[in-house]
Amino acid sequence: MTRSKQPRMPYVRTVGFTSYEDQLALGEQGKEDLERFCGLLNSTEQQELREHLRELIKAWQESGPNLEKMMYGSHKHIRNYLMALCSGASWMPTAWGRALLFLNPDYGRLEELIGRERVNRKKPEGGWMLNPEVEAWKEFGYFTLNPHCEKLAGPCARCGNYYVKKRASQKVYCSRRCGNASTAAVRTAAKLKAERKEKMVRAKALIREWNTLKGRSELVWKVWLREHEPSITDKFVTRRVNAGELPEPKAGRKP
Ligand SMILES: [Zn+2]
Repeated sequence: MTRSKQPRMPYVRTVGFTSYEDQLALGEQGKEDLERFCGLLNSTEQQELREHLRELIKAWQESGPNLEKMMYGSHKHIRNYLMALCSGASWMPTAWGRALLFLNPDYGRLEELIGRERVNRKKPEGGWMLNPEVEAWKEFGYFTLNPHCEKLAGPCARCGNYYVKKRASQKVYCSRRCGNASTAAVRTAAKLKAERKEKMVRAKALIREWNTLKGRSELVWKVWLREHEPSITDKFVTRRVNAGELPEPKAGRKP
């Protein structure tokens, strides 16, 4: 059996949008499109779009992802909007063997459903643009057509960014950098906890020694402590005593 020969040309998207300015592939969308989508989810410039998209992705993730469940459950109100935005396709021949397929978002239908005001807003420099909410529905609709969409993960436990998984097991951190930093933080916290525990053991032993000390009435606790264990201050002891974690040192000579 011979395999059909692939045309020798760079990766060309065969499905796109009618508007050439936001050329994005559908059906044959690659990981680069997923990275672009991640960029929107992490965007600091397009706050509104980002929040709307994050809400959709959170619901999508929580559904399983099970898009059917989401679109007939928590998000049934937007199902028709997405159908309008991801509707109609037009076929267009190219200069090589294949054709392109473009989606034609039906903004007219969407306006009928939710009203023109909610679909568009005036740009400060003139003209109209989609409201971030509608933009988010559209982007989400296209995202669900990306064959790699289930590789999207996030938010990262450390930096809060969304990311494209490099391995199926990459479920918590967006990058090795975040993973390592987090492990380091956990290690530091564990070390501090161990040090504190050890300090408490020493403090307890010192208080016991002091409380049973002969001739204690001739000595000043603070001074005695400083001489015996400079790394433990009487302030530390007082705080721990007040918290009920250490026994109280008995009275000595007044300082
Ligand atoms: Zn991260």
